[in-house]
Amino acid sequence: MTVVRFAPSPTGRIHIGNARTALLNALFARKTAGRFILRFDDTDAERSRQEYVEAIGVDLRWLGVEPDVTVRQSERFALYAEATERLKAMGRLYPAYETADELDRRRKRQQARSLPPVYDRAALALTAEDRAKLEAEGRRPHWRFKLETGIVTWTDLVRGESRIDCSSLSDPVLIREDGTYLYTLPSVVDDIDLGVTHVIRGEDHVTNTAVQAQLFAILGGTIPIFGHHNLLTTATGEGLSKRSGALSLGGLRDVGIEPLAVAALAVLTGSSDAVHPVESLDALAAIFDFSHISRNPARFDPAELAVLSARTLHGLPFVAVEGRLAAVRIAGAMAEPFWLAVRGNLETFGDVIKWWRVIEGPVPPVTEDPDFLAEAEILLPQEPWDFGVWAVWTAAIKAKTARKGKALFHPLRLALTGSETGPELAALLPLIGRARASARLSGRAA
Ligand code: GLU
Repeated sequence: MTVVRFAPSPTGRIHIGNARTALLNALFARKTAGRFILRFDDTDAERSRQEYVEAIGVDLRWLGVEPDVTVRQSERFALYAEATERLKAMGRLYPAYETADELDRRRKRQQARSLPPVYDRAALALTAEDRAKLEAEGRRPHWRFKLETGIVTWTDLVRGESRIDCSSLSDPVLIREDGTYLYTLPSVVDDIDLGVTHVIRGEDHVTNTAVQAQLFAILGGTIPIFGHHNLLTTATGEGLSKRSGALSLGGLRDVGIEPLAVAALAVLTGSSDAVHPVESLDALAAIFDFSHISRNPARFDPAELAVLSARTLHGLPFVAVEGRLAAVRIAGAMAEPFWLAVRGNLETFGDVIKWWRVIEGPVPPVTEDPDFLAEAEILLPQEPWDFGVWAVWTAAIKAKTARKGKALFHPLRLALTGSETGPELAALLPLIGRARASARLSGRAA
């Protein structure tokens, strides 16, 4: 069974770029009947916040992504401590005492001599005595993972054959001076423990993969399949950050952008599939394929979202919105014909309220053309009404008054709906019903 995970650190609201990663994982799980894990990377107690844990859960649910399992790294420290001990016992984790300043000076010296700025492993040469002396001075060690030199290769789901020469990398720090873990080790420990089969994440993690592949090999034996997708950037090429509030999922939801529009844009941008509205996540899962993702940055214009969102609404079937309509008290036998009548005129879902008021009234009385409207009122067919009533009625008015085109339809629309434009009257009229139609044509608010 495929097992994937989306692993945000709860240090801010997630944005549309994070949604790309979450959805590529969730849709892959959906396609393969696999399991989708939400993992909160909250080992950094200072920057992680419970409010963001909750907000990320809300944002994912809004997108339609429901994790099968949720875990928090802050509850799993015992596993990381155990892995740490194993690495130490294998001689693959060693203490180093250099300060940031010392490392910086060393890097500059290397650069001046045109050497690659790779950590020189000076700490490996420290004797027990040297270490005791440093600790007596009050220095605390950070812990580095001793990389094997050589080339790590993998077949990336998106990028194909990939390779990284580990001799160009510094031994990565896994544990800081204060004993806190950087992301590298806990991620591998969790992926092994939770049986993750595919690590799908942004291409900003490609270099980590070389390091983590080595950790997987020595801690777990098997290495998962990796897929590194291109990152979403705005049209001008800017990356998204947790601070890009307007493109946070919460921000988009607040301005009425449809979750399926966010999903379609997040998944299809930067791929060989054109960005277009979809009517469900299943439909999106059916289109998406890792091999369609391009290696160039995935640029998008945030302004496209509003248009895509409106177009998404125009195509949504009733089943997709039944619950949301009921939540604004649009329910019962009229709900479905109402939805089908108005969806093509919506910019945001909230516009349904406006059109529901047009059905239920009161619509302000119109005083233009009262004689014509009085004649039309007399010609209103008796109920029961169906979608054919509009054609029958307007044919009768036409025959009686010799009006046609705009002169016929415009006063009727204005009187019946109070608006110059709107959904097809053929669909609205049976919903408005005879009593209200009659009153509105007679110039009474109803
Ligand atoms: N917490 C990491 C991030 O948000 C997770 C990376 C990964 O998927 O391994 O970048």
